Amino acid sequence: MSTAIVRIVSELRSIVAAWRREGLKIAVVPTMGALHEGHLSLVRAALAKADRVIVTLFVNPSQFNNAADLAAYPRTEHDDAAKLASVGAHILYAPNAADMYPPGFVTTVSVGGVSEGLCGTFRPGHFDGVATVVTKLLLQSGADLAFFGEKDFQQLHVVRRLVRDLDIPIEIIAGPTLREADGLALSSRNTRLSLTERHRAPRLAEILLQTVKQLSSGESVERALTEGRKAILAAGFSKVEYLELRADTDLASLVTMDRPARLLVAAWLGQTRLIDNVEVPLRRPAVAQQAAA
Ligand code: AMP
Repeated sequence: MSTAIVRIVSELRSIVAAWRREGLKIAVVPTMGALHEGHLSLVRAALAKADRVIVTLFVNPSQFNNAADLAAYPRTEHDDAAKLASVGAHILYAPNAADMYPPGFVTTVSVGGVSEGLCGTFRPGHFDGVATVVTKLLLQSGADLAFFGEKDFQQLHVVRRLVRDLDIPIEIIAGPTLREADGLALSSRNTRLSLTERHRAPRLAEILLQTVKQLSSGESVERALTEGRKAILAAGFSKVEYLELRADTDLASLVTMDRPARLLVAAWLGQTRLIDNVEVPLRRPAVAQQAAA
C-alpha cells in the first residue's frame, strides 16, 4: 500500500470528511519526521485502534529555541513516506511552514502549570510552540484519537491539558518509550552522537533505573537524585539540566516517594541534548508487603 502525501489542509479535510461519511474511525500521529521504530510503534498502535491513520510531519520552527538545533534537525521525508507505507499508514500530512504560519499569524496556545519546570525552564518558549502546533494539527485532522509517546512525558501532559482545557473532541493515547537493545531511548537526535558518545549514551537510562532502585529501597529522594546527577556526569555527560522526581498524574514536584511517580532527565552529551524518563512505582509499605505475601 502506498501512503498518500497531503500538504494542504483543505485537501486533508475533504479526505477526512469522506471517511467520516463512511463512518470510519480516524487517528492522528503527530511527528517531526526522521521516523524511527518509536514513531512507528505509535503508528501501529493507531492502526490497531482506528480505521484510518494520518501521520503528520512538520518540523515546527516555533518550538525550537535554538536556531542551530532547528537547522541540524534531520529531514528525511522520502524515507519517512516509505516507512509509513510499509506499516500501512493512510496519509502523510506534511504541510509547509508558510501555510501553517501565514503572514499575520499571531495566536499562541500557552499551557500553564505542567509546562513549567523541567524542559520548560531550559527551553524557553518550547511548550508554547508545541501547544500551538499540536492544537492546529489536532483541529486540522479532525481525528477521533491522537497518539503521543511517553518519551516526551512533559509534552504528553501539556497535550492532555490543552485538549481538556480547550474542549478539543479527541482522545489522547500514550505509547511506551521504545529503546535500543542497550537501553538508549530511540530519538531522531541520536544520529548526531559521535561513536564515543553513542557508546556512553545508554548510561543515562541505566542511571535512571539505578536511581529508581534506590528510591524503591527507601533512599531519600534528595539523596537518590544527588547520586544520580553525579553518576550522569561521571559517565561522561557534559551537563545535567535536570534529574527530577515528579508525580505521574500531574507532574507535581515530589520530595518524598508518596505516590506513583516519574523520574525525568535532560542531559547533554557533547553537542546533543538527550531526554529520558522512567516510571517509579509506589513502594508498598513493609506491612502491606507481608500481608500480600
Ligand atoms: P518527534 O518526531 O520527536 O516530535 O516525536 C513524535 C512522537 O513520537 C512524539 O509523540 C514522541 O513522544 C514520540 N516518540 C519519540 N521517540 C519515541 C520513542 N523512543 N518511543 C516512543 N515514542 C517516541
